[in-house]
Amino acid sequence: MSDTMLAERFYAQDRSIHLEEIPVPHPGPGQVVIKVEYCGICHSDLSLISGKFPPSLPVVTQGHEASGTIVEIGAGVTGWNVGDRVIPSAGQPCMKCRKCRRGDFANCLHLHLMAFAYDGAWAKYHVTSAMGLTKIPDNVRMDQAALLADAVSTPYAAVVRTGQVHPGNAVAVWGVGGVGSHLVQLARIAGAVPLIAIDLNDEVLARAKRLGADSTFHSDDPDLMKKIEDATHGRMIDVAFDAVGISATVRAAVESLDVNGKAVSLGLSDQNIDAGPFLDFNLGFKQLRGHLGYKSQDIGVLAEMLSFGRLDLSESISAVVSLEEVEKGITMLTEHIGNPIRILVKP
Ligand SMILES: [Zn+2]
Ligand SMILES: [Zn+2]
Repeated sequence: MSDTMLAERFYAQDRSIHLEEIPVPHPGPGQVVIKVEYCGICHSDLSLISGKFPPSLPVVTQGHEASGTIVEIGAGVTGWNVGDRVIPSAGQPCMKCRKCRRGDFANCLHLHLMAFAYDGAWAKYHVTSAMGLTKIPDNVRMDQAALLADAVSTPYAAVVRTGQVHPGNAVAVWGVGGVGSHLVQLARIAGAVPLIAIDLNDEVLARAKRLGADSTFHSDDPDLMKKIEDATHGRMIDVAFDAVGISATVRAAVESLDVNGKAVSLGLSDQNIDAGPFLDFNLGFKQLRGHLGYKSQDIGVLAEMLSFGRLDLSESISAVVSLEEVEKGITMLTEHIGNPIRILVKP
């Protein structure tokens, strides 16, 4: 291993990114170093560059959705070996807050986020805590494994935990881009019937149909609610997901609900949330739930689902770029070139 490596670094001062040669990290106690195989480009990486998300450090290596192979093990690490294929956790508990002091690390109040509070994985090597690593089953591909940290686990947690989709639930998904495509696939696995995808873009609607949607509608259709009523044989929706994050789509998701239905919001914008008229919301005993992120154990569950062939992510990798091409990958994502689900960096 040489002493230096290439890394794509973010500078907070002028919010610029630069490809640089920096020292290869070595593990401290409780840590391992992985050789990065793949690392996704996520909208939250772009939020740091655009200034929507405040920087935690003056300079940081970006990228938090990684897969890799352990190449060095620090003092006190047990249960892991050089050569193990792993997914690093994208956050580390602070070990100081009242939740951490109780051992409730999953609910840490000051989680240190990978690629924000410490260096991420748009680099040849990445140092991470051994706590929170997920082993990748032998028959799971490293490129698909990188999707599990966030791109698939956030929709998984929204479907299973926040939305609590059960077999037979009528489900609708607003916005079937990167997050929404995986919502469709996971809601289908959870037993959604019927399963409706709603978007403005015909190409992504056709893809949503391939991935399991029974019906697809345009979000600007003036007869949208009537069409949802017909598609559900009058039942309307038990669980609606909004992956767009604007007032109009959240409001439509709430409007589509059956009595006691749940709308789950997992998009983000600077608009305000809008649940529609009080009377409709209260009379229908409707619920509107917020959702962000996932638990580390979700990654392990999804790795098993891939290993047993229950989840097919073959359409999810839209492009693979080198470290030198990260800016090209970012442009593809921000300008929706080819309607990407996920673009991976291969250092
Ligand atoms: Zn992400
Ligand atoms: Zn904590």
